[in-house]
Amino acid sequence: MRILLVEDHPLLGDAIHVSLRQAGYSVDWVQDGVAADTALATDEFAAVVLDLGLPRRSGLEVLQALRQRGAQVPVIILTARDSVEDRIRGLDCGADDYLVKPFDMGELAARLRALVRRSAGSASAALHIGGLSIDPASLSVTRDGQAVSLSAREFALLHALALNAGRVLTKAQLEQHLYAWGEEVESNTIEVFIHHLRRKLGAATIRTIRGVGYLLPRDDHAD
Ligand code: CA
Repeated sequence: MRILLVEDHPLLGDAIHVSLRQAGYSVDWVQDGVAADTALATDEFAAVVLDLGLPRRSGLEVLQALRQRGAQVPVIILTARDSVEDRIRGLDCGADDYLVKPFDMGELAARLRALVRRSAGSASAALHIGGLSIDPASLSVTRDGQAVSLSAREFALLHALALNAGRVLTKAQLEQHLYAWGEEVESNTIEVFIHHLRRKLGAATIRTIRGVGYLLPRDDHAD
């Protein structure tokens, strides 16, 4: 799951970056509003963590431009304690949630999970598809009630497929979910992770759509 972090404060940005990575996200971090615009115009993110006070272009302007382009990506804004007006304007401009600095990193991770879940159209915390139960809060997976141990990247890959169940994701889209910019991606990385997932979850769990990508079949009983 790929997150865009927009924060110009080096220490705070670094702390958020580290803690979101520990929570299993891949994080791209930019430090001004123009770089945020560029990132949002060129890449797909599961959510955005957006500071409002930024160099070159304010967070509110970034948010307004994003929503004017029709982008639905969930955005959580970071505001100072004394700026109630900023918070209100941020929500009016299309932010989905806000946190007041200083905040607890665990709370940020929890709110991101909730936002991503809501934007995927699911109200319950864990995703249930076929015999699989996938819980992003604990990064845990069960298959027919049995716990399955996955690495953070394997989990992220399965989660991306589960959020898009019934839809084919291309290798490039899956790489985007898994990797931040500048991270080295070996050409067969996705194949290797898919292989691991099939070994752990059963060969038929993930379908290969030849020449296109991969698909987690939707649960026929789900809707
Ligand atoms: Ca700032």
